[in-house]
Amino acid sequence: MELFLEVTAGLPRQGPGSTAATLQALSMVAGLPRPPRILDVGCGPGAQTIDLARATGGSIVAMDLHQPFLHELAARAKEAGVTSHISPIRMSMFAMSFASQSFDLIWSEGAIYIRGFEAGLDDWRRFLKPGGWLVVSELSWLVAEAPEQARSFWAANYPAMRSREANGKLIQALGYVDLQTFVLPAQDWWDNYYGPGERRLQQARARYEGDPEACAMLDEIGREYDVFRACSDSYGYVFYVMRNPAAACAIS
Ligand code: SAH
Repeated sequence: MELFLEVTAGLPRQGPGSTAATLQALSMVAGLPRPPRILDVGCGPGAQTIDLARATGGSIVAMDLHQPFLHELAARAKEAGVTSHISPIRMSMFAMSFASQSFDLIWSEGAIYIRGFEAGLDDWRRFLKPGGWLVVSELSWLVAEAPEQARSFWAANYPAMRSREANGKLIQALGYVDLQTFVLPAQDWWDNYYGPGERRLQQARARYEGDPEACAMLDEIGREYDVFRACSDSYGYVFYVMRNPAAACAIS
């Protein structure tokens, strides 16, 4: 775990993503009030938080459990001139204490898997206003029969991963409406996440040369990049954009 942090600390993102993808997902969200009230769950160092602040001019509660990420986010927000739009808060996504129905939009890139995809969708809805939007990105199978290399890697690392179709059905079964989805391009994994991560890994390999235990752990971290390089057609990060139904009108 420490080695993993050593390799990944300070990366531009803590998961695959890009400004273009964040804005594409945001463009699918209709009818937000101006300015909107937004919650960013598992914001990490805040690349998407800053994109959302710039694009919406809203007020964003940026929530993460890891304080160093919140410090990074604060520094980046200052540099981007959006500090007044962002309130970083250290809180667990397992124990969120916000008033019910207090957000127009809940956003979570590369983090809902920690809570559990289904549990997160179910649990976070109470914080959405009627008619409010939920946007999450989630690692998903894109084909029915993925290559063995990908299947065995993810069976060990994320056995709960479902297909894009199964997640869509789940979202509808939970009562969300207006679902739209799209797949993050492979480039968005490399540019801001795997690419910088892989360069860090090389540096760490040089530092830990002659330490077989550390080298084995670094190889294990590197395996994720290799599997994606070989099998990126069979799984990917999917953005799921969905809406909490508006309150039903009283029928007289
Ligand atoms: N959205 C960011 C970070 C994704 S990584 C990005 O795309 O770059 C997942 C994030 O979830 C990390 O920042 C991690 O610190 C955070 N996290 C892990 N467990 C958490 C918990 N219980 N509650 C809130 N955040 C958590």
